[in-house]
Amino acid sequence: MAIIIKSPQEVELMRQAGRIVAETLAALVAAVQPGLRTAELDEIANREISQRGGIPSFKGYRGFPASVCISINEEVVHGIPGERRLREGDIVSLDVGAIWEGFHGDAAVTVGVGEISPAVKRLIETTEGALAEGIRAARLGRRLGDISAAIQRYAESRGFSVVKEYVGHGIGRNMHEEPNVPNFGARGMGPRLVKGMTLALEPMVNVGGWRTRVAENDWTVVTLDGKLSAHFEHTIAIADREAEILTRPWSVPEVP
Ligand code: MG
Repeated sequence: MAIIIKSPQEVELMRQAGRIVAETLAALVAAVQPGLRTAELDEIANREISQRGGIPSFKGYRGFPASVCISINEEVVHGIPGERRLREGDIVSLDVGAIWEGFHGDAAVTVGVGEISPAVKRLIETTEGALAEGIRAARLGRRLGDISAAIQRYAESRGFSVVKEYVGHGIGRNMHEEPNVPNFGARGMGPRLVKGMTLALEPMVNVGGWRTRVAENDWTVVTLDGKLSAHFEHTIAIADREAEILTRPWSVPEVP
């Protein structure tokens, strides 16, 4: 399958999808607190997406049962909401996808529950920073490998590892399109970035090693060594100079 370039009209529909995702994430982040059941976050995600006329991308995708992926602590991605309650000191990754007029938006954020240690805060900041570096590298005329290399370089320079078994992706009428966007790689490699390419960049950054396994529920990806992992994601469009972030803004509360 080839990379699908979007027209300005299609990018506009993705902007709308992205806004639904961003506003839903903001509502989820605002709701995070110790004691909350993760199923309650799924209810919020459902409500926020449908109130805006969107359709949750994840629900029913290959049988996934919820509208948000909630991955806690050593869970990397694809965690399923349920009866588990958030606890003070946890970190929680919230990953949301929504469809508007047939086009998808996809974004994720990791936040601390209550108070978290400076070391854990550094993991979160590094993962968000890696995403920012990836977006900065996603400029017209550069190559896909420039994005991958920028993400990897930033995360590893701060002493963390990047997950290799799961990657970012093209996005549009399908949640996952060509090309894959690895969080590791070499500058100057891969396809050239052209206007209208729409990509979901999503660094998954680990405190320990990069290896992962899938938990017994066949969905939740966890770190092999059981150490913490964080995840940030934005859907972007390659534009005239810098990439446009289609899933902005979501607001993250100040960590005291
Ligand atoms: Mg994604």
